[in-house]
Amino acid sequence: MDFMPFFFDLKNRKVLMVGGGAIATRKARLLAKAGARLTVVSPYITDELHKLCEQSGGTTQSRKYQSDDLNDCMMVICATDDSAVNQQVSQEAQAKNLPVNVVDSPDLCSIITPAIVDRSPLMIAITSGGDAPVLARQMRAKLEVLFPSSYGALAKLASGFRDRVKHSIRSGDTRLRFWQNVFNGSVAEKAFAGHIDEAKSDLDSYLSRIEAGEESDKSLTEGEVYLVGGGPGDPDLLTFKALRLMQQADVVLHDRLVSEPVLNMVRRDAERIYVGKRRDDHAVPQQNINQLLVELAKEGKRVLRLKGGDPFIFGRGGEEIELLAEHNVSFQVVPGITAASGCSTYSGIPLTHRDYAQSVRFITGHSKSGELELPWDSLLDDSQTLVFYMGLVNLTGICNGLIERGRDKNTPAALIEKGTTPDQRVISGTISDLPELIADKDVHAPTLLIVGGVVNLQHQLNWYQAPKR
Ligand code: SAH
Repeated sequence: MDFMPFFFDLKNRKVLMVGGGAIATRKARLLAKAGARLTVVSPYITDELHKLCEQSGGTTQSRKYQSDDLNDCMMVICATDDSAVNQQVSQEAQAKNLPVNVVDSPDLCSIITPAIVDRSPLMIAITSGGDAPVLARQMRAKLEVLFPSSYGALAKLASGFRDRVKHSIRSGDTRLRFWQNVFNGSVAEKAFAGHIDEAKSDLDSYLSRIEAGEESDKSLTEGEVYLVGGGPGDPDLLTFKALRLMQQADVVLHDRLVSEPVLNMVRRDAERIYVGKRRDDHAVPQQNINQLLVELAKEGKRVLRLKGGDPFIFGRGGEEIELLAEHNVSFQVVPGITAASGCSTYSGIPLTHRDYAQSVRFITGHSKSGELELPWDSLLDDSQTLVFYMGLVNLTGICNGLIERGRDKNTPAALIEKGTTPDQRVISGTISDLPELIADKDVHAPTLLIVGGVVNLQHQLNWYQAPKR
């Protein structure tokens, strides 16, 4: 992180502005909106800037900058076209530890002004640290559309109820739940549709019911579990629903398969519990995970069980919800992009193809007893693509087993390591030479093995989609 975002309270604080042209005027409009007392020093000052200064309770000085102009101010904005002046102001301000921004000169700045989406009291600030301002502005344009102007009105409405809610709902957790219900329910919908008065009366009656002890809505005290598929690694492959639930969870149980960038999309202050799961090393046994989900939900928490890929494909998702159902804990399951889909797409291998494969089969290559027990006879059809999950350790056994039972030894095969992540690597060959090909390549889990004619299309399609570092 190159810059730390802060939001300054500028009300009635002296902000020095060096320069009085069009750019300075533009900056001054925003500063005045934030309530700053503007002092402008410049031989030339636009009429609008004169007016803004006067209205803000500040002064204008029609002369060149001098060092003691910095006295008593809390921030300096410099917008002149004289690089010597810009340099001097920056140096002198920084010597006094005053935050300084020199327009269009990132090297001279100790603070930068972001692109903003203003939904006061909600405010979004975006910056590229001076590297790509146009991209930052594009991002702002998208956010402008995403958050209708009524967001601000909803925030103001909530602010009017804050003290009463704090007084009436003592528990912090329950209060959080209350506001989440408000912002996810009809109150918010009405506010977004512009019906603020109706939204206000809905909020008022919801709170009154709670105050009178009439609110039987279990959602205020009971937790819930979200069993969410986090996809194979690239956070862009999350579903909207996954992201929404990740953003409202109080606690997250995650394992090794969930990539760091995906985990970073979880609400920042959610408690994180690592429940491990490496091959043969179940840091927390499955029963304990199931039990923990129940206990946390019973404590009233919104519990996110975040799984790699899809929870119902080799994910033991079924076992985890069984106990929840038994204990009457409400839960939601959100599908994710499974490794087979993510890895095949990001390595240019279609899983089916009219000419090469009419079906696809997902198989676990993991052997419980050390003996590979696969339904070999059903794996020999040339028109079927085979996708082996957890197959790295038994790769040689899988490939040899297929050849021994009659599958052509020249059947194409690819091993995809850390698919869809910036570390994705694809090693391809045939079922007879793949074990040898990977022997000296220092391959690490997770890996996925794809077997079938479709693997050859990789070279034909020759694309690479995994995000680069
Ligand atoms: N529920 C998961 C699979 C869990 S089993 C899903 O739907 O994808 C774990 C196996 O998934 C790993 O051993 C590996 O074979 C595969 N896998 C998961 N993520 C992967 C990735 N990013 N790249 C390659 N293989 C992956």
